[in-house]
Amino acid sequence: MPTYARADVAFERGEGAYLQAEDGSWYLDFGTGIAVTALGHAHPHLVEALTTQAEKLWHVSNLYRIPASERLAERLTANSFGERVFFCNSGVEAFEGAVKIARRYHHSVGNSERYRVITFEQGFHGRSLAGISASSGAKLRAGFEPLTPGFDQVPFNDAEAARAAVTGETAAVMLEPVQGDGGIRPADPQFLREVRRICDEHGLLLIADEIQCGMGRTGALFAHQWAGIRPDVMALAKGMGSGFPVGAVVATLEAAQGMTPGTHGSTFGGNPLAMAVGNAVLDVMLEDGFLANVRTTGARLREELDALARRHPELIRQVRGSGLMLGLQAQGSNLDLVNAFRAEGLLTVPGGDNVVRVLPPLIITDHHIDDGLARMDRACQRL
Ligand code: PLP
Repeated sequence: MPTYARADVAFERGEGAYLQAEDGSWYLDFGTGIAVTALGHAHPHLVEALTTQAEKLWHVSNLYRIPASERLAERLTANSFGERVFFCNSGVEAFEGAVKIARRYHHSVGNSERYRVITFEQGFHGRSLAGISASSGAKLRAGFEPLTPGFDQVPFNDAEAARAAVTGETAAVMLEPVQGDGGIRPADPQFLREVRRICDEHGLLLIADEIQCGMGRTGALFAHQWAGIRPDVMALAKGMGSGFPVGAVVATLEAAQGMTPGTHGSTFGGNPLAMAVGNAVLDVMLEDGFLANVRTTGARLREELDALARRHPELIRQVRGSGLMLGLQAQGSNLDLVNAFRAEGLLTVPGGDNVVRVLPPLIITDHHIDDGLARMDRACQRL
């Protein structure tokens, strides 16, 4: 089904930050398949983990213990605010799980009337019926009505609007600490802290959708950490498997208290292959210096993009974002820039608000930044 307007290029293999197309040409991948291949392509540690597991066991279901999922859950909670983890296979499932956990929490403490979730304009949480109901954008929703009830959207970075939207039926506030699809729009740390306060005052759960901005992308393991806040629930996917489909919902013990046997499930969630890769991704991300390196290379890339924008003010209006989650807001059309970059062998991703998302693998070095900027400069000169 033509649900994507695909570019006419197919890739055959990947090595680190580079991808080779069918015609043999090499592309520098600053899109990572929409913030997914966090450790680049064919990372040896991940390949080893996946192939070793593939020879042993693929699937048993959640009817039995899966030691690798217990290990990954322990490591995710040891490195976050969380105490409980539910594994799934994609971002939208993590979003759905997070909303279900919040509703069930209020149900379990005798507040079943609390089911509504406050979300934000330009937010994106996935393509299920509840996902499009929680997300922004008429195009996403048109023709799919009736939508799932219970989502109230307010302007992003506007804590007073969030406060005003709270009613006796509100269960949670859900936000992306850095909006991804909306066009790399970081939440103001002050706004995040205020939302945390609002949740505390009204007994609401704070859900962080870190599906795009989490797993090291901003130079912290989780983006909300920059504001010094602790959500109650967090949705993860994308970079968590660095290309293997896996997602997770992380929650505090209190927030997860309603999740008893039979309340939620997934046939594939937490399967041995996904868990082997998920653990291998964390092996690398938790190595000393990994996140510091994301911060250093991110700062350098940001400087270079700022300089590019100064050289081409007719094409680039603004650079924003942090770590290796950066965006170029186009003066003209962001698609023209994405296409021009691709013609120079550089992959980026369009986003909302006329933005080109620059989402390189977290393993890039100065060499990749130099190569990427040279390609961007050539593309800008031709536009
Ligand atoms: N939430 C956020 C913040 C996302 O960026 C995405 C995907 O772009 C999703 C949810 C949905 O994830 P998936 O496409 O894996 O269902």
